[in-house]
Amino acid sequence: MKGPLTESRPQMKWVNIIFFAFTMLVTLIGVPLYILKVGMPPPVILALTIFYAVATGMSITVGYHRLFAHSTFKANPVIEFILLFFGAAAFEQTALRWASQHRDHHRYVDTDQDPYSIKKGFFYAHIGWLIFWVHPLRLENSLDLQKNKLLMHQHKYYLLWCIGSGVLLPTLLGALCGHALAAFIFAVCARLVFVHHSTFCINSVCHMFGKATYDIYATARDHWFVAFLTNGEGYHNFHHRFPGDYRNGVRWYQWDPSKWMISFLASIRLVSDLKKVSPFRILEAKLRADQQRVRDWLTQGNEASRWERLCTDVEAHYKILHERLHDWEAKSREYRRLVYGRIQEHSQAIKTCTQQEEAVSRGKFQLALGNWQLLIKSNARLASLVF
Ligand SMILES: [Zn+2]
Ligand SMILES: [Zn+2]
Repeated sequence: MKGPLTESRPQMKWVNIIFFAFTMLVTLIGVPLYILKVGMPPPVILALTIFYAVATGMSITVGYHRLFAHSTFKANPVIEFILLFFGAAAFEQTALRWASQHRDHHRYVDTDQDPYSIKKGFFYAHIGWLIFWVHPLRLENSLDLQKNKLLMHQHKYYLLWCIGSGVLLPTLLGALCGHALAAFIFAVCARLVFVHHSTFCINSVCHMFGKATYDIYATARDHWFVAFLTNGEGYHNFHHRFPGDYRNGVRWYQWDPSKWMISFLASIRLVSDLKKVSPFRILEAKLRADQQRVRDWLTQGNEASRWERLCTDVEAHYKILHERLHDWEAKSREYRRLVYGRIQEHSQAIKTCTQQEEAVSRGKFQLALGNWQLLIKSNARLASLVF
């Protein structure tokens, strides 16, 4: 291996160009041609294609991203093997390279050291960085992963892994059913085009379009449709704000099958140590982002003096809201310490009293939140910024 590079440099990466062009051409020409000449592929091939799209996509999101790049949970070796096996079949580099570059993305986001910086444009962030640029590989940021023998085996013998799992196995399974060509066109090429470009949308679409729910100064955005395409990875503003959380779609109604899969595997004890950010930190970040968005609008341009009174009210309401949130958090922590802590000597009366105090603090916060929302709704423009 060459010595570490210090900066990205432009260079045509012909292997990647040919690979992306080949799979795209087979998809754009082979799929309609097959349907015209032979007809719709049999259900078994459609099922194989959907299975491969989900298994390889989820191995990137659950495995490469949330397990290896961010260590948001721990996994049984059998689960690790499955994630590395189908992760290789996604043809998105080895888990080690992927995780190392992704750690650089978070650490140096939007700078020259970010491998897929959106500051270099939509196309660059989407696919340009993979076909026209060579990036320094700073494997010293992933020494923890280099202790994992299975992961290093995938890294050293990557071609065997990706061709075996991503091309030979699905084509062989199709051949066993008498449809090798259909399996190659649909379960290999078309599936790869879908998984590649949906994953790439995280770096392009989710750094340009959508809502900055938790951090208004980040380029990362929450985009529900990309989340739908990528098994939950589209809540990218949340992810950049809280990268150590195993969830990306943190609300119960947000589409995040990767989170559900990790929770399910934890329930049958195949994964453990799921990392979650405190709901108070998440709520605090959301309210802070709303307040910054509102304040930025009220203080911008020539009309700032017109909104002086409203601006003062917003700051005052936000200050109360912030204080009430911290008070509720303190009472909640105290109550949980009494109930779940190892200290047995507390009487039921003390626990009940603390529980009541926690409920009162929560009520005060909810009242402050209601007043804050009323103030925001009093101005249509502010309401459109927040709700
Ligand atoms: Zn990002
Ligand atoms: Zn990440």
